[in-house]
Amino acid sequence: MFIGHFAVGLLSKKDNTLPSLAMMFIAVQLLDLIWPVLVLLGIESLTIDPGNTALTHLSFDYYPYSHSLLMALVWSVLLGVVYLLFTKNRRRSLILGGLVMSHWILDFITHRPDLPLSPFTDIKVGLGLWNYPVLEIILELFLFGLGVLLYARSSNFKRKIAFWALVVFLIVVHMMNIFSPPPPNTMAVAWSANLMWIIILWAWWIEKRRPARA
Ligand SMILES: [Zn+2]
Repeated sequence: MFIGHFAVGLLSKKDNTLPSLAMMFIAVQLLDLIWPVLVLLGIESLTIDPGNTALTHLSFDYYPYSHSLLMALVWSVLLGVVYLLFTKNRRRSLILGGLVMSHWILDFITHRPDLPLSPFTDIKVGLGLWNYPVLEIILELFLFGLGVLLYARSSNFKRKIAFWALVVFLIVVHMMNIFSPPPPNTMAVAWSANLMWIIILWAWWIEKRRPARA
């Protein structure tokens, strides 16, 4: 799942009492932002495995620190607490914590059973929706469309061209993920996964206040 995660960040974005879009994107993708760093450090690992599921060429062999249920809870609390310390806003902190967990839940629905329950157990879970491509793609696009629609109606919707460009960009990247051949090696996957930060910067730009005219 790729745009499905971003959809959740957009979905929850109805009014101005919520965290910024960039912050929401960090929350919904926090586990996938941590993961490539741990892979590059040699702490977590994956292999290229064409046909691992119908929709992905990657086998997520070992990623208990970024993607186990227990650690997802830990990251969720951590982000919530850090945000609370900086902003003193309990409601937004709780929302961000919940959004971090939404990533694990969506991964649980889509991944084959490769998500560990904790770094200390061998039990792995996952419902494997990635093996039902048509259903998965429709569901994810529907979720994304709903998120985009809700965001476009929100009061934060200011830099419209930048926003619609991001929507197109996310759909293109999503299609490339689905239809491109297997990546050359695992390090290429890990390095390119760090490019997610571009999307977060983009989200920040969309909501950045324009300088007041003199
Ligand atoms: Zn993930």
